[in-house]
Amino acid sequence: MVNKLAAQGIADTRVLQAMGAVERHRFVDSALVNQAYEDTSLPIGLGQTISKPNVVARMLELLMQGCEKKLGRVLEIGTGCGYQAAVLSQLASEVYSIERLRGLHEKARENLRQLRLPNVHLLLGDGMLGYPRGAPYAAIVSAAGGEAVPAAWTEQLAVGGRLVAPVHAQGKASQQALVVIERTQEGLRQTVLEAVHFVPLKSGIA
Ligand code: SAH
Repeated sequence: MVNKLAAQGIADTRVLQAMGAVERHRFVDSALVNQAYEDTSLPIGLGQTISKPNVVARMLELLMQGCEKKLGRVLEIGTGCGYQAAVLSQLASEVYSIERLRGLHEKARENLRQLRLPNVHLLLGDGMLGYPRGAPYAAIVSAAGGEAVPAAWTEQLAVGGRLVAPVHAQGKASQQALVVIERTQEGLRQTVLEAVHFVPLKSGIA
C-alpha cells in the first residue's frame, strides 16, 4: 500500500512511514479484511466509510506542509473507525478526534484500545463546534464535507496552523472540493484544490 501511495505521488516520507505503521485491516469488518490494503473506501457501519488510503495520505501531506518535524495538537472531525486518528498519532503530539455517532465513537475506541496510543483522545460530540478545550490547534482535518467551513474551526486554529476539509463546490452537496485554510498573522488564506467525495458533515449527535 505504501509503495502504491508513493507511486501515486505522496512524497512526504513522514506520511508514508505513518501509513506504513498502522495496519488498516484492524479497522474494517472481518468480511472486508482482504480489501483493507486496496485503494478504496470501505463501509464501517451506520452509512459511513473509511476513506481511501490515497485520500488520507493526501490530506495528511497537506496538513504537514510547512511543518518541519511533528505537528502539535491536531483536531480531527469525524473519527469514524479511528483509522486516520491512528495515523495522525504518529505525526502529531496530541490528537483530539470527535465523532457525532455514538456507535462509531465506540467502535473507534474498541479498534484503538489494542494499539494503546496515549496521545489520541476520542470525543463524542458535534464536531461542527470544534473542541475549544484543546484549542488552539496546529492542524484541523475534517473527514466530512459541509456547505462551508464552520467558523468554530478557523477560530480554533493557531496562527501558523492549517486546516484541510472537503467543502461543497458551487453550492452543490454532490460536488465537493478539498480546501486548505492557513491562519497567518494577517488573517486566513484559503486555497481550493481537487474534487473529492466525502460523507456529509451533519450537526448534532446521534
Ligand atoms: N477518519 C475516518 C473517516 C470516517 S467518515 C476514518 O478513518 O474512518 C467521516 C465521519 O464523520 C463519519 O463517521 C461521520 O459520522 C462523521 N461526522 C459527520 N459530521 C460530523 C460532525 N458534525 N461531528 C463529528 N463527526 C461527524
